[in-house]
Amino acid sequence: MKGGILLTTGVPSKEQVESRTPPKSRRERGPFVVIECFQEIPCDPCHYSCKFGAIKQFESINDIPEVDWSKCTGCGVCVAACPGLAIFVVDETFSDTECLIAIPYEFAPLPGKGDAVRLLDRAGQEVGGGFVHRVLPGKKPQGTPVVWLRAPKELSMTVRNLEPVEKGGVSHG
Ligand code: SF4
Ligand code: SF4
Repeated sequence: MKGGILLTTGVPSKEQVESRTPPKSRRERGPFVVIECFQEIPCDPCHYSCKFGAIKQFESINDIPEVDWSKCTGCGVCVAACPGLAIFVVDETFSDTECLIAIPYEFAPLPGKGDAVRLLDRAGQEVGGGFVHRVLPGKKPQGTPVVWLRAPKELSMTVRNLEPVEKGGVSHG
């Protein structure tokens, strides 16, 4: 159901994003999911993909997903399961200066570990530079590849896409 990308073509408002961001105390404890899905649509694989029960039971398939951050481990399984490419994982505890961000990525070729990338915001604007931390190619038939990025910590809630610096990825950091 790759057509779900249409669901994410709008850029959410600051208020919408804040409504999907856990409190500081939770952010300081480790990786957390950020579900940027704001429309009532008939879709629910995110709920079923989470084995920890962190994405609450839907009463209707049109419900907007709700997260229990106390149950979320930041594993990233739901990132690959979302056909709308609307789920991310952020880890602000990675280092003093860098965070990790898990991003669904459907373009080919996939970047490789260590590749330098341009960091893009929700509107596709470049906001800085980062590196590929690891790549999960995605399980057939529906799993979306997930690229975990290293990014400056202050961009943890800004970066939501990437662009390889060189096709095929030959830069290493
Ligand atoms: S990151 Fe893992 S634990 Fe958190 S909501 Fe997604 S699947 Fe569940
Ligand atoms: S799977 Fe993705 S698009 Fe579908 S309801 Fe969940 S977050 Fe929204």
